[in-house]
Amino acid sequence: MAYKFIDNYREKGARKKLVKVLQEERKIEDKDVLAAIGNVPRHFFFDETFWKQAYKDIAFPIGEGQTISQPYTVAYQTQLLHISKGDKVLEIGTGSGYQTCILLELGAVVYSIERQEKLYERAKMVLPYMGYQPHLFCGDGSKGIPEHAPYDKILVTAGAPFVPEIMLKQLKIGGTMVIPVGNEDSQKMVTVIRVSDTEFERIELDTFRFVPLVGDQAW
Ligand code: SAM
Repeated sequence: MAYKFIDNYREKGARKKLVKVLQEERKIEDKDVLAAIGNVPRHFFFDETFWKQAYKDIAFPIGEGQTISQPYTVAYQTQLLHISKGDKVLEIGTGSGYQTCILLELGAVVYSIERQEKLYERAKMVLPYMGYQPHLFCGDGSKGIPEHAPYDKILVTAGAPFVPEIMLKQLKIGGTMVIPVGNEDSQKMVTVIRVSDTEFERIELDTFRFVPLVGDQAW
């Protein structure tokens, strides 16, 4: 893919319209999340030929059979996390790195893992070029990243068959995990809050369709 990092008035205008759609039509309310979406040039993750697609509210192929998540999905998941500045966030499924940038815009310290080596390499090149400094890893994120635990928040951006127990253990008490859980065709967005060492509160929300979480603790 040939990337070009130019953010001109056309893309800036399209981004503003996308934020308006997310706020007015898709009912995203968190002003900080909307501002983050307004700040990150999503077209930087697309080949120039497809720039027009970058500000539509759609998921889009990024190679290796994977997708950059739909902006609505990114906004929805991020809103559920209630990120505070300085939160240590584990993201499973870096993909393009777009969601990673949104978390960084909100002031999170991000640990993100991707199992596809080509996507990991691309994110490792693109994100620092854009001025973002996440901690990126390549490997099976279905087991989390125990070496860097515990985390304030855990975000899974691929559809899981169940909530991996091993990931829950990496959540701080009071911390929140957001993970789509279901079968390969459809998943419910699930939030899990760690109430104490042994207690977790689980809430099931809307239905989505993600690419599968593939790994030891997944499909
Ligand atoms: N949030 C990403 C973005 O904005 O581009 C989109 C992520 S895409 C929907 C899901 C990603 O999860 C894919 O890149 C896929 O390769 C990755 N993935 C699936 N199973 C994984 C695993 N066990 N560990 C790490 N990454 C995984």
